[in-house]
Amino acid sequence: MAHPPLSVLLFEDDEGQVILTTEALEKAGLRVAVARNGREGLDRLLNAAFDAYLVDYKLPDVPGLEVLRRIITMRPDAVVVMVTGHGDESSAVEAMKLGAYDYVVKSPYMGHLTMLPMVVHEACDRRRLRQEREQLQTELWEHARLLEERNAELRRANEELKRLDQMKSDLVSMVSHELRTPLATIKEFTGILADQIAGPVNADQQEYLHIVRANIDRLARIIDDLLDMAKIEAGRIMLNRGLVQIPALVEHVVQSMQPLADSRGVAIRSELPAALPGVLADGDKVAQVLINLLSNAIKYTQGAGQITMRVEEQTNEIQFSVADTGVGIAPDDLPKIFEKFQQFRRAVEPGTKGTGLGLAISKRLVELHGGRIWATSSPGKGSTFLFTLPKYHAEEVFREYIRTALQEAKRKQGYLSTIIVSVLRFQELKALYGLEETSRLLKDLEMLVRETVRRGAGDVVVRWQRGDMVVILAEVDKAGANAIADRIRRIVEGRTFTVHGKPLAVSLTASSVTYPDEATTEEELLSITESRLQQADRARTRIMVIDDEPKIRQFLKEALELREYEVLTAASGPEAIEQLKAQRVHLILLDVMMPVMDGYEFYHVLKETPQTADVPVIIVTARGERKDRQLGLETASYNYLSKPFQLEDLLAKVREVLQHHPVKA
Ligand code: ADP
Repeated sequence: MAHPPLSVLLFEDDEGQVILTTEALEKAGLRVAVARNGREGLDRLLNAAFDAYLVDYKLPDVPGLEVLRRIITMRPDAVVVMVTGHGDESSAVEAMKLGAYDYVVKSPYMGHLTMLPMVVHEACDRRRLRQEREQLQTELWEHARLLEERNAELRRANEELKRLDQMKSDLVSMVSHELRTPLATIKEFTGILADQIAGPVNADQQEYLHIVRANIDRLARIIDDLLDMAKIEAGRIMLNRGLVQIPALVEHVVQSMQPLADSRGVAIRSELPAALPGVLADGDKVAQVLINLLSNAIKYTQGAGQITMRVEEQTNEIQFSVADTGVGIAPDDLPKIFEKFQQFRRAVEPGTKGTGLGLAISKRLVELHGGRIWATSSPGKGSTFLFTLPKYHAEEVFREYIRTALQEAKRKQGYLSTIIVSVLRFQELKALYGLEETSRLLKDLEMLVRETVRRGAGDVVVRWQRGDMVVILAEVDKAGANAIADRIRRIVEGRTFTVHGKPLAVSLTASSVTYPDEATTEEELLSITESRLQQADRARTRIMVIDDEPKIRQFLKEALELREYEVLTAASGPEAIEQLKAQRVHLILLDVMMPVMDGYEFYHVLKETPQTADVPVIIVTARGERKDRQLGLETASYNYLSKPFQLEDLLAKVREVLQHHPVKA
């Protein structure tokens, strides 16, 4: 783009300089005006602005620096270049300080004349760039200011929304509570009328009462859903987690839905694997989700349908699914069904219309557990709803107990101590008196500890029995923990137990960890407690590995010993039986495929021998070899491990089984 030529006002009194300079500047494409003294130049400045000013340092009337000062005052962004005489460089510094863009030193050989146009161009460029930068800066500031304003507006709107949402939730929950009570009364009295307690009711009236009752039930369901939703949204739903046994839960849910399914001619089938680990979950909430999915499946199935409830164990989670042969869901609706108040289809049976909240609530409940929920469907054929719950290991259940207790203690700004009590030289006692007697001894002991703790103080949160140790969680400081441990020790040691009809004194060891004294964080409390438990635990656990393959025996022995288990090995069933006569073990890892006596045969011998009948066994088989029924293992079928297995799986199983058989070994 072509620029108009730059205009320059030259302050110069020396005629020779005027001519030469003007010529040099004009050659370089600049337009030049000349002022012979300061006053004249400044006067011209009043009427017109120039792109640049070339000011001679020595003017006849006003000193050059003064001219510079006035130019800057009149036009603050003026480009002024000072022209000084030879040997006057020091004044150039002063000029720059006052705001000159540059300076040029006159040379006696006129060399400066070639420089001048360049200096002027460069100075003008610099000014342009500076102006552009300032412009950008201003725009940026403006943007930032606008953004900040928008942000503030959004924050205000957000806060307002939150406040409104809170108000809405409060209102919903208040109204719902208020509605519940009169509704219960209405239902009660409708029942009295329908049951003809208050006098005879004719057939028409009976029918109307039936309709009234159905609608009361519906209203009650809506209120419950609204209350649940309000609670969830206000973050007031707390999970009451515990170890949930899934088969029992599924059975309970199916049973409670059976009458409704029967009345519609819909069959419910449940498919569960033989072995399922427990999950750490809020059983009531999981049941609520399942009941909701089942009742939807029934609601949206016509005629003689089939509902299949399936539970599957996956690597890190348990997956539940409820599949129906009902009306299905249109692909467009599918992504929206878990949103609040979304209803796309009328229920198949009149009078069963829902609230459109069931799935939204289910989704929140599943997510609170750390799981996922989704659905698939083919319209006209049926739908499948699926959700997952994360799997937890037994240690995590234990951790969860401690965590919950700790949170409670923190909330009260109090202490939490874990106290671990265990029997001294327990192994010796067991070897001396046999399994049954020592088990009884432990039971007595546990009872005693529980009683002692209960009588002692109301501040004990949880007691957890693990192996031949008792872990007590109490909201007490270190001194309190010591007092509890002392009390238990005194009472137990002062008491005489009887073994084989003979008196026996028992000694205990106790140790404790206190938050926030010794353990300053939750993690620290957990890890110290656990390491103490494991020290006590593992050193005492003896495992027998039976496998005809020497390499596998050696590998398992090393892997288990590394984790401080004591390991015995046997190459065959008969060899193992010989060893077991002399020594008791807490767990047997049994390979099925063995010559001489196979695993199943050995298992029977083991179970038929009173001394070993109680020892838990983990059976290691290749996939597809399982013969649970033959072994009578239906009830204890978790003791399985399929080859090939990962070492982690094996160790987890070992820990799990040992925990299920804490004192019997
Ligand atoms: P509602 O109280 O209406 O049943 P839900 O939140 O439980 O509310 O379900 C939302 C919507 O999803 C239902 O209105 C229905 O359109 C659809 N839906 C839920 N379950 C099924 C199912 N098993 N088969 C077909 N549609 C279903």
